Amino acid sequence: MSTLRKQALKEIGGREIKTMFKEETTLSEEFAINVFDRKAMRHYLSPEAFKAVVSAIDDGVKIERRIADQIALGMKTWAMERGATHYTHWFHPYTDATAEKHESFLDRASDGSVFENFNGNALVQQEPDASSFPNGGLRNTFEARGYTAWDPSSAAFVFDQTLCIPTIFVSYNGEALDQKTPLLRSLQALDKAATQVVRYFNKDTNRVSVSLGLEQEYFTVDNALVKARPDLQLTGRTLIGHIAAKDQQLEDHYFGAIPRRTMSFMKEFEHEAYRLGILLKTRHNEVAPNQFECAPLYEEANLAIDHNLLLMTLMQRVAEKHNLKILFHEKPFAGVNGSGKHCNWSMITDQGVNLLSPGKTPRNNLQFLTFFVVTVRAVFEHHYLLMGSVMSLSNSLRLGASEAPPAIMSIFAGKKITDTLQSIVERVSSKKKMSPDEKTELKLDVVGKIPEILLDNTDRNRTSPFAFTGNRFEFRAVGSSSNCALPMTVLNTAVAQALTRFKAEVDKLTSKKIKKDEAIFQVLRMFIEESQSILFEGNGYSEEWLKEATQRGLRAVETPIEGFKAFIEKASIGLFEQYNVMSEAELRARYEIFNEIYAKKIQIEARVMGDLSINHIVPTAIKYQNCLIKNVTGLKQILTKEEYDMLASPQLRSIKKIGTYIKNLRDLMHDLIVERKNAIAAEEFPARAKAYMDNVLPIMQEMRTNTDKLERIIDDDLWSLPKYRELLFM
Ligand code: ADP
Ligand code: MG
Repeated sequence: MSTLRKQALKEIGGREIKTMFKEETTLSEEFAINVFDRKAMRHYLSPEAFKAVVSAIDDGVKIERRIADQIALGMKTWAMERGATHYTHWFHPYTDATAEKHESFLDRASDGSVFENFNGNALVQQEPDASSFPNGGLRNTFEARGYTAWDPSSAAFVFDQTLCIPTIFVSYNGEALDQKTPLLRSLQALDKAATQVVRYFNKDTNRVSVSLGLEQEYFTVDNALVKARPDLQLTGRTLIGHIAAKDQQLEDHYFGAIPRRTMSFMKEFEHEAYRLGILLKTRHNEVAPNQFECAPLYEEANLAIDHNLLLMTLMQRVAEKHNLKILFHEKPFAGVNGSGKHCNWSMITDQGVNLLSPGKTPRNNLQFLTFFVVTVRAVFEHHYLLMGSVMSLSNSLRLGASEAPPAIMSIFAGKKITDTLQSIVERVSSKKKMSPDEKTELKLDVVGKIPEILLDNTDRNRTSPFAFTGNRFEFRAVGSSSNCALPMTVLNTAVAQALTRFKAEVDKLTSKKIKKDEAIFQVLRMFIEESQSILFEGNGYSEEWLKEATQRGLRAVETPIEGFKAFIEKASIGLFEQYNVMSEAELRARYEIFNEIYAKKIQIEARVMGDLSINHIVPTAIKYQNCLIKNVTGLKQILTKEEYDMLASPQLRSIKKIGTYIKNLRDLMHDLIVERKNAIAAEEFPARAKAYMDNVLPIMQEMRTNTDKLERIIDDDLWSLPKYRELLFM
């Protein structure tokens, strides 16, 4: 067997690591011990400094430099007690990972002595070179500097002996270079718009925040095998590989017993996650072999996203110890279930009321219906942009495949709610005033009858990209490897816009002396009628739905590149500018970045594909072809012509078949090089991305077909790459 694979198969396996809890502590005692949270702050900060941070977190009040020095001092003391030697601003540029540039606390004093230094300046701002991150042209050539600025609403933490300070990342001109800045702006916009609407129902509400629970799906693969697969190593997915005889057809993996080795990995990363304040709640097997999921308890959206990104880093770190590699890629194995990051999204008031949860009284339910219908209206209005926001090369391999939602938006509401919406449309009229009896009947019999727990929403429709699951919406089209800040930014801003309009319409009616409740019903009716076509209860995976959706006027995102364009459509620019979430310049920069990343990723995949076919597959095929040639030459010497004609013909056929696949691969390789050169010659990223998509990807697909055919013919012993059966079942 070829050395790489042989070696890998020998090295397979991991040592069991016992998770160590100090015997005398319980999980809850260890929870968040590596987080500079309010509890730690109260202990390490002066009352004045503590108050300043709290009002920065709660009310966005700016922190004075003098106070920042005090906070930095407390933070440093706390972090050093936890073994930190360095600090870093931790931010989310447009790469697949978070970014950090570590600086040592060590500094030299004027008398030459060395001491640990960390002051307000270092806490509040750093200046990483913006030109080294995707910036879509936002950085002007004379001013490469970017600035990171402290985000006090996400607590600092110690990870790997480093004090990590969550920050935003902006250009010299204040334009957002990262994913967090627009997210924070969108959360503010939603807060403002939602608070005004909640006040129709409850005057005491002062704030509305977004709650987010992120289910994270992933695959584990033995690291030794990954090292023998250049494609997994460099692109996170298998570019070639014949499907294994068994995969998920027996449906025996989902919710099955978690394999021992994975379990020991899970226990360890969960423990580390708890210490970082990430409250992981569930773990289970997913549909595909070696596929799993974990989900934390929901929390405020900005924090939930920071935690998700930190968790992904942490999981990869811990996996190394167990000789495992985590694949966050949306479609690491063709023909096998892909991975998503389901975003469970809701709005919650400062009094703890979940606005998407039906309540006990007709009044609570009217509030619930308002926020439900407004969200539906928002998703309808910006359905194309929302779907565009989850587009990437990797997620495009998953969406639209038979087990993932298609790249067309629809909302599952459940029977009870659908019926309620229908009743509102039937009973409310904008033409004639409702009689007091009609109003009472509507409130008691329709709105009042929405149960607190919606049974049909617990048995939810798994095929819907955007499903109402009883007390929240679940956006399922988001990819497992992505930073979900972008889709959440789109959703928050779209809902803010719909809420603003809702309020304007209701106020217009009440100014015409229509009673508030009736005005709300009338606007609800209008919104339902306008957005009904996005509601769909059937099978979202079916061919018929695709046809029907188009007839309903819903726009499918045909390709990732079309999806990127959604960000520079007039309506999208208008939306983001209206709420100061992103300017046109920031949007155009993102459009550039999405295309740049897309093109670069295909470029890498194409190079790896070339390496695999020419340096791995073709030589192996020739070796095996030579064995066959030797065999038939030998047969010729010992057999009669008649016997030879009969017995050698299968081998002769194989020799020719192998020859054809080799020739195909060489020809395709030639085409691949030509098309890559053509693509790279396009100066603008959008044109380059399109050339890669239209002309390079199809050649890679054809190369895969040929290599996968060869895998089925060639002696297993000669095959140099770990096979699907090994990657998925070991
Ligand atoms: P399932 O796989 O059945 O969808 P999970 O338990 O795996 O459910 O994940 C559900 C996620 O939704 C969890 O992160 C949970 O905390 C979150 N969640 C529950 N209620 C809300 C809510 N009101 N707002 C946001 N997220 C929520
Ligand atoms: Mg789940």
